[in-house]
Amino acid sequence: MRVLVAGAGIGGLTAALSLHAVGIDVAVIERVRQPRPLGVGINLQPHAVRELTDLGLGPDLDRIGVATAEIVYSDHLGNTLFTEPRGIAGGYRWPQYSVHRGQLQMLLLAAVRDRIGPHAVRTGTPLLDLTQDEDRVRVRVPDGEIVADALVGADGLHSVVRERLHPGQGPMRWSGVRMWRGVTELPPFLSGRSMVIALGPGNVELITYPIGRSTVNWVVMVPVAEPGPLPDEANWNQPGRPDDVLAHLRDWALGWLDVAGLIGNSALVLEYPMVDRDPLPWWGRGRVTLLGDAAHPMYPVGANGASQAIVDARVLAEELARDFATGLTGYERIRRPATAAVVAANREMHRASDARTPGELARITETYRRATGADTHQLRSA
Ligand SMILES: Cc1cc2nc3c(=O)[nH]c(=O)nc-3n(C[C@H](O)[C@H](O)[C@H](O)COP(=O)(O)OP(=O)(O)OC[C@H]3O[C@@H](n4cnc5c(N)ncnc54)[C@H](O)[C@@H]3O)c2cc1C
Repeated sequence: MRVLVAGAGIGGLTAALSLHAVGIDVAVIERVRQPRPLGVGINLQPHAVRELTDLGLGPDLDRIGVATAEIVYSDHLGNTLFTEPRGIAGGYRWPQYSVHRGQLQMLLLAAVRDRIGPHAVRTGTPLLDLTQDEDRVRVRVPDGEIVADALVGADGLHSVVRERLHPGQGPMRWSGVRMWRGVTELPPFLSGRSMVIALGPGNVELITYPIGRSTVNWVVMVPVAEPGPLPDEANWNQPGRPDDVLAHLRDWALGWLDVAGLIGNSALVLEYPMVDRDPLPWWGRGRVTLLGDAAHPMYPVGANGASQAIVDARVLAEELARDFATGLTGYERIRRPATAAVVAANREMHRASDARTPGELARITETYRRATGADTHQLRSA
């Protein structure tokens, strides 16, 4: 039985590793000709670190990531509002890692090539179209056709597989928030393993955390419009300008972190709208399914996008290994409601972004953990 995965992002590559680990023949096609380490920081929550550790990648994660020890909520003048321990310090059996997205993708790509074979990922090969019958799925690519027993659409936010299965979805749903993201060389702040969420006037938020010994990731979120359909395309690689960000942070003085330096000295600034989509009533049909952002794009406020794609990958492999004929249905039965709950929890967390008291913040983080299956007890017994 051969599975074809479309998309060599975090989700698609983890799916390839997970399928290979349970003895299923797998190949990946990727649109981009030469994958490069794009993006800035992302977080791997303990439930995702568990899966990657089971795949033997724990030491590699520890090498490229920073094990987050706490989240510190502060106001825009640096006064601490609430602190919450994370990862091992938060009672989990697995750390939470903050990593550079591109480095993680390159690590997964190298692992796939090493374990499955140098030609396991065909780059420069976009999926253009697909058809299926009872026996096979046929995927059209620029130089011909690839035939497989099952197809996993892990082709991200603008998934062609999703569009073929669910045509005419319309524009993405925009929260009205513009996000700027960047990476700066800077000495560690607070504990050196702290993720900071600083809340300012006008519901402007700065989220910042180290992703290396002296590399700090930051995100600034600014409400600029009423929520509604996204008028343009969402593009992860859209460049932004530091001055546009700093204009929203003029009155900020955290004290323990030079905000103007953090933003102004960034090697790279990217701009992105905070978007998601309503959960789908079904993901796949017959021999085709979806995974990661293709299945469930979500707001990044819970730092869960990559983590949920990684959990999808494990469940997909487990269900296909149990019974190839019913595996895709089993996978969707488990993961569709679970990820719909995360999409909803992220929206809820975003709606509560004006919370400022320790009590409110503690309740929000606790509710989020429960809704997303990340409660320490839930996770230990899962
Ligand atoms: C370039 C890039 C930069 C990003 N930067 C950030 C960031 O800074 N912060 C953050 O929180 N999240 C970022 N993300 C999103 C984040 O990686 C995902 O939300 C999360 O990891 C889930 O991953 P995924 O594998 O489902 O999707 P993605 O990581 O988006 O991967 C999808 C993959 O599919 C490929 N693809 C697309 N269409 C086709 C096709 N037709 N045929 C074959 N392959 C196709 C894409 O090239 C990509 O490699 C970025 C995504 C990308 C693609």
